[in-house]
Amino acid sequence: MKYIEPHAHMVSRTTDDYVKLALAGCEAVCEPAFWAGFDRATAAGFADYFRQLTEYEPKRAQTYGIHHFSWLCINPKEADDPGFAREVMSIIPEFLDKPNVLGIGEIGLNKNTRNELDIFEEHVQLALDHDLPILIHTPHLEDKLKGTRLTLDSLANFSNLDRSKVIIDHVEEHTVAPVLEAGYWAGMTLYPQSKCSLDRAIDMLEVHGPDRLWLNSACDWGVSDPLAVPKCALRMKSRHHTPEDIENLILHNPTKFLRQSRKFTL
Ligand SMILES: [Zn+2]
Repeated sequence: MKYIEPHAHMVSRTTDDYVKLALAGCEAVCEPAFWAGFDRATAAGFADYFRQLTEYEPKRAQTYGIHHFSWLCINPKEADDPGFAREVMSIIPEFLDKPNVLGIGEIGLNKNTRNELDIFEEHVQLALDHDLPILIHTPHLEDKLKGTRLTLDSLANFSNLDRSKVIIDHVEEHTVAPVLEAGYWAGMTLYPQSKCSLDRAIDMLEVHGPDRLWLNSACDWGVSDPLAVPKCALRMKSRHHTPEDIENLILHNPTKFLRQSRKFTL
């Protein structure tokens, strides 16, 4: 099967994972900027990370015949110091013209602090200024619902925001409906231990329908599975979803959203 992995942190994965993705039919991986497993001490550390995401990782992926795209930002986990966050944000524009950069992400909230919210809104404005799509992380902690509500309330203040160019990721049963009803895209993240299991994701798909939904593994340095998307496709098959419905969810839906960036081509 051909599919797109729309959210993976490949800098923390091995080349063996690229081989597995290629064998499973992965056509493209999209890598949002995020926490790298440790707090970076300087803005220069982020500049190197952005070079890794825009210069080195695309070459590594191409070795295995996979297209690599990235999203840029300072992630919410390291954005609670506004002075530092703004210093990092000031270097983002010089990377936005790189051929694999799709937009701004994954921005959002981690502990739902006022500082995180300020930096989130400044990122949204940066995306609007450059007419870029936005990828939003929602907290994994017990305050996912509160974080999602804060995110939706904040976005509602941007009257010129095209909601079809915004995806709110890591939705669960209690947050998927408000995201879709407000006109945004929603991402379901398949994790072995937390977030969605394969069956929970398929349950949500069956309840809400496939429109404006995508699946991702969000594989990173922690317990995660780079093959979660094709595994979910197999589970859909065993639950009697048609091949067309499966292809729609894992290939056509992400393509439709990502093509809103002119840079996304396969
Ligand atoms: Zn992520």
